[in-house]
Amino acid sequence: MINFEEMGFTPRILKAIQELGFEHPMPVQKKVIPLMLGNESDIIALAQTGTGKTAAFGLPLVQATDTEINNTQALVLCPTRELCIQITGDLTDYARYTGKLRILAIYGGASIDNQIRGLKKGAHIIVATPGRLIDLIDRRAAKLSDVSTVILDEADEMLNMGFLDSINEILEEIPEGRRTLLFSATMSSEIASIARKYMNNPAEITIGTKNSSAENVSHIYYLVHAKDKYKVLKRIADFEPDIYAIVFCRTRKETQEVASKLINDGYNADALHGDLSQAQRDAVMQKFRLRNLQLLVATDVAARGLDVDDLTHVINFSLPDDTEIYTHRCGRTGRAGKTGISISLVHLREKQNLQKIERLVKKPFKAIPIPTGSEICGKQLFNWVNKLETVATDHPEIEKFLPEIKSKLSGLDREELLKRVVSLEFDRFLDDYRHGEDLIDPVPEKDHSFRKSGRKGTREQYTGNYKRLFINLGKSDGFYPEQLIELVNVNTKGRKIPIGKIDLLKTFSFFEVEAGHADDLIGALNNAKFLNRRVAVEIAQEKTDRSGRSEYPGKKPAKWSKRKPEKRRWREVQRTF
Ligand code: AMP
Repeated sequence: MINFEEMGFTPRILKAIQELGFEHPMPVQKKVIPLMLGNESDIIALAQTGTGKTAAFGLPLVQATDTEINNTQALVLCPTRELCIQITGDLTDYARYTGKLRILAIYGGASIDNQIRGLKKGAHIIVATPGRLIDLIDRRAAKLSDVSTVILDEADEMLNMGFLDSINEILEEIPEGRRTLLFSATMSSEIASIARKYMNNPAEITIGTKNSSAENVSHIYYLVHAKDKYKVLKRIADFEPDIYAIVFCRTRKETQEVASKLINDGYNADALHGDLSQAQRDAVMQKFRLRNLQLLVATDVAARGLDVDDLTHVINFSLPDDTEIYTHRCGRTGRAGKTGISISLVHLREKQNLQKIERLVKKPFKAIPIPTGSEICGKQLFNWVNKLETVATDHPEIEKFLPEIKSKLSGLDREELLKRVVSLEFDRFLDDYRHGEDLIDPVPEKDHSFRKSGRKGTREQYTGNYKRLFINLGKSDGFYPEQLIELVNVNTKGRKIPIGKIDLLKTFSFFEVEAGHADDLIGALNNAKFLNRRVAVEIAQEKTDRSGRSEYPGKKPAKWSKRKPEKRRWREVQRTF
């Protein structure tokens, strides 16, 4: 495997690379760096954000810049102010041992006078957003006549933001003999036409599949009623105590509403959208970058250019209308070789949209049951217990109070003490979830085969929500899932009773019902008639074998009494399951 030392970098650049902790080049770096250091060809690289593309062009660019010449030798164009600041910071890091290299960030929304002063001092490399750069070209403050390398970063985003004319105008300013590199997550006809017009026989590099999302992102979704979306979001946050995520909403209004609710409910969250001033947006983004915020609720436009690694999740509170936006969203997690999870809250009417996105990212989306209240309480409790186990206790200030504390609590035994500490810590969760109803994902009845398959890998979560019932009807009675659902519907008169996994056997069956409805349903079905047979339903009791494993009643129990088959079978089943 080729490493940085073999790529032709000077010792000063290698020292910076080492200090940044880059051990091995990432795929885009392996492809782009040798081309940049080895010859003069133009390059088109199709690579998502997070693949290491800034270092791919930035390290060779810094190395190739001559600090003895005072002119601007390289221009990096990018779509947003945040990305502009980010790239400038990265290039400065790469140049920390190369002496007097001046790198200047030029972007809108900040003092133009400071930028003019910076240009007057001379900048070897300019990193700019197109609008402000044009402004400075028009004022004759920015001079691009000596630029020999141009990088168009996130070219597709620049086009999405309507910068095509500005890019054309800027490229017209730069001498023809330049070298041009274009980075884009996707290849569209507009990108191809820029390449034709301004690039000379470019080498094409593709990292990952074109238009596909990051390899190490898994895509999951919760089917929810639209009215329950916010509750489900809260559950996700409660179920993942260490979550660090962007929650994407569709509109500014929705973004603000969701963020305000989260803040009111005590979550470490804030909003990022276009109705905020630039200063407010900067403050929120900085808080998020520093991890002083766990949940950033944002619109797609406002979150553009926010460059944060280590996100644990991206949450699509609303699915985007434009399926390509989805790939941009989820490209924000699973970066720099890490894994990430993209969660979508989907209501039934959106299932088609979900399928379109699935086709685009070429990965299956896994349906996951909504965490139940008891699962959340368990997760929170054990997270807290882990912290309790590892918390540092060497605070001398506490020592002096200990004797008095001990004497005050001497009447409580260990168990009582533990219970009180836990209750104190978990008041909110216990109250919310002990008394709150469990949200049920609205799996349509005809989709019950999906439940039947046990939702791969999630059975423990799934069964936590349901009770398993026994019914004295089976396949030999012509009793199949449709008949079961009909029987339930007819006898519960329009009440929606969620049914889970169904196991049909020859003369009897098991099925799951959402726990809160179990008694209700047993009452409604007992003594009902199915094809003139009296129906009998009861909670199935699980029997465990000696190892503690549950015996699955997929097959008929081994021995049946010949004399009283019905009654005997019933009891046998009650005992074996
Ligand atoms: P980018 O695609 O340029 O936004 O880079 C994504 C992240 O990967 C940044 O935080 C970089 O610091 C990090 N990174 C870039 N190159 C490497 C490397 N060779 N090894 C480890 N991390 C890297």
